[in-house]
Amino acid sequence: MMENSNEMMLIFDSRAENEGLARIAAAAFCTHLNPTLEEVSDLKTAVSEAVTNCIIHGYQGEVCKIRMRCTRKDRTIYVDIEDDGVGIPDVEKAMEPLYTTRADQDRSGMGFTFMEAFMDEVKVTSSVGKGTCVHMSKKIGN
Ligand code: ATP
Ligand code: MG
Repeated sequence: MMENSNEMMLIFDSRAENEGLARIAAAAFCTHLNPTLEEVSDLKTAVSEAVTNCIIHGYQGEVCKIRMRCTRKDRTIYVDIEDDGVGIPDVEKAMEPLYTTRADQDRSGMGFTFMEAFMDEVKVTSSVGKGTCVHMSKKIGN
């Protein structure tokens, strides 16, 4: 019988080069569940979007720490991606499709929309001046 839970945590600098590290670590974490290529690709895209947001918006290019926690319970993968950056004043508005505060940087405002499309659940908790945490989950083999 399969063990019914597992957990890992990764703490890394908010540098663009670590976006790839986070994607691959999350993908590797779920391989135990024999995901389809599409499921792995969905998970990697969601992790990339969340990590990129921490780098660009949370820390605004400053190098600080991002924490990624991956948990598996039965066939569901939970991923929390957290920064201690500027925070989001209005989370509901930030999650609307096409909403961006960085149109000047060629951002399209679709990051949260992609996360919601590719994962089963996305919740954001944020506090201005303290930071942001994106909680996502996806059942593998749905
Ligand atoms: P795209 O992801 O398409 O390049 P975007 O990053 O602006 O553009 P979203 O990822 O949907 O779009 O994020 C919407 C807005 O939410 C951002 O423009 C930013 O204002 C805010 N935001 C998102 N993540 C964070 C974060 N970690 N810290 C602070 N603000 C954030
Ligand atoms: Mg984004």
